[in-house]
Amino acid sequence: MSEERPLNFIEQIVADDIANGVNGGRVLTRFPPEPNGYLHIGHAKSIAVNFGLAQQFNGKTNLRFDDTNPVTEDTEYVDSIKADIRWLGYEWDKELYASDYFEQIYEFAVKLIKKGLAYVEDATAEEIAASKGTPTTPGKPTPARSRSVEENLDLFTRMRAGEFKDGEKTLRAKIDLASPNMHMRDPLMYRIKHAHHHRTGDKWCIYPMYDFAHGQSDSIENITHSLCTLEFIPHRPLYDWFIKELEIFPSHQYEFSRLNITYTVMSKRKLKQLVEEKYVSGWDDPRMPTISGLRRRGYTPASIRQFSERVGVQKREQMIDLGLLEFCIREELNKTANRVMAVLDPVKLVITNYPDGQVEEMTAENNPEDASAGSRTLYFSKTLYIEREDFMEEPPKKFFRLGPGLHVRLKNAYIIKGESVEKDANGNITTIYASYLPETKSGGDHSGMTVKGTIHWVSAEHAATAEVRLYDRLFKSENPSAEEGDFKEFLNPDSLQVVKEAYVEPGLLQARAGDRFQFMRKGYFTVDPDSTPEKVVFNRTVTLKDAWAKEKGKA
Ligand code: ATP
Ligand code: MG
Repeated sequence: MSEERPLNFIEQIVADDIANGVNGGRVLTRFPPEPNGYLHIGHAKSIAVNFGLAQQFNGKTNLRFDDTNPVTEDTEYVDSIKADIRWLGYEWDKELYASDYFEQIYEFAVKLIKKGLAYVEDATAEEIAASKGTPTTPGKPTPARSRSVEENLDLFTRMRAGEFKDGEKTLRAKIDLASPNMHMRDPLMYRIKHAHHHRTGDKWCIYPMYDFAHGQSDSIENITHSLCTLEFIPHRPLYDWFIKELEIFPSHQYEFSRLNITYTVMSKRKLKQLVEEKYVSGWDDPRMPTISGLRRRGYTPASIRQFSERVGVQKREQMIDLGLLEFCIREELNKTANRVMAVLDPVKLVITNYPDGQVEEMTAENNPEDASAGSRTLYFSKTLYIEREDFMEEPPKKFFRLGPGLHVRLKNAYIIKGESVEKDANGNITTIYASYLPETKSGGDHSGMTVKGTIHWVSAEHAATAEVRLYDRLFKSENPSAEEGDFKEFLNPDSLQVVKEAYVEPGLLQARAGDRFQFMRKGYFTVDPDSTPEKVVFNRTVTLKDAWAKEKGKA
């Protein structure tokens, strides 16, 4: 969509069509989800491409539910899909359902039967497969192939009327059993399924197959550019054949590569398994690549759109680095997220020379990248919490944080000098003692003293307790779907670490679900809907730097 980059190949096709007056220059795309699961980031790319094309070329986009499979579909999914598309920032022209076309598609089938181009098959799925031949040897006709038009019409009517059991009959297109394209060897058009459909109820017991529903729906809606992923390239001749023989609106199919991301699985079937077998807390678990999971993780619609734009539209399969998605959200949050202090692994710090009971209000800038973000008040007192890792009893040379005799600045407050520690029976540090230098107060420091390190802190008596959920990639394998064995064996056992008692600035008690912050030095976090007025729950969206990239560099 950006004007700086050259058109991608699909945009070029559309631009050429408009220049050549194809369809009078009209552009109508559609996004056709099957309501059998929640949308994932792969769908987000398809949404961005379909809606983006329409926006770019003054066209429109329909939302069409491809609900031709009664068994797996549900209204819960319909609702979540609509909410996710809107959240991503897109609005469809019409909301449509392939199931609304069942009568019309049935009539299309009758038309092909009458033209002698479709027949009712008695053979089982196995028998059909066995008679289809191989890509190098032609298939053999089944006895049903020579049925008369009258007999086919009669049988098809009875299929619809429910006279046959599931699998007993099918309707096949009569095309070419010797075609090098297996999809053209008399493909199935209809199957019998005595099942309740989430919209049509028990009205139908025969359902059109994908190949005899998708293109037909496109055509019924006068879709100009029907975009799908590369695996449908071999279906295109069939898509075109049905449209030609039915003499209906000539929609055209174009294919681009599906989005694959490292350390992720991107198939609804697999994601559903993770949910149903409770490997994750739900479709919106913040580790899931679903739109709802990414939202709960703290991703913004703009970051996902930006990611889709950067990935672009390609003709060849590709694997995108998960780091690119993280880069997109990090880049945005760096500009927009207010900085706050949160101590995730707290240890007590007592400032020995600070007056007992004194509380100072310190002013802290909310976002150094954005002056309009304003400032807030921090409470400073004698007893603070700092991160355990910011203190070392025997610090190595380049440790620019706290240790006995070492100076460090407490962010927005004073320079302090480490003194001594107190330990429990197991030798763990329970309290650190330090002294502060009153003349080094941030904002009015004329001491001329400089220190190399600054650490974050919170005042013990003022801090709020928070739960912090540290998420990491869900899989430890770069491509779990390509591994031998079950993809679930490659789940990352450390993908979630829960900090039950972190201490955060008290102002964060007012934060609402979905608010986003930078925990200074720790990463970007968002407020989870599990939060209560007493306890805020934060999800880590992403670390400040790509920790894994460093890891890779070492290897
Ligand atoms: P899944 O395999 O995850 O179930 P699907 O293709 O069966 O995906 P649909 O609901 O049929 O899911 O897809 C709706 C639209 O989204 C289709 O046009 C499909 O091509 C597109 N789509 C699905 N997954 C991806 C992906 N990973 N990258 C790009 N587009 C995708
Ligand atoms: Mg599908």
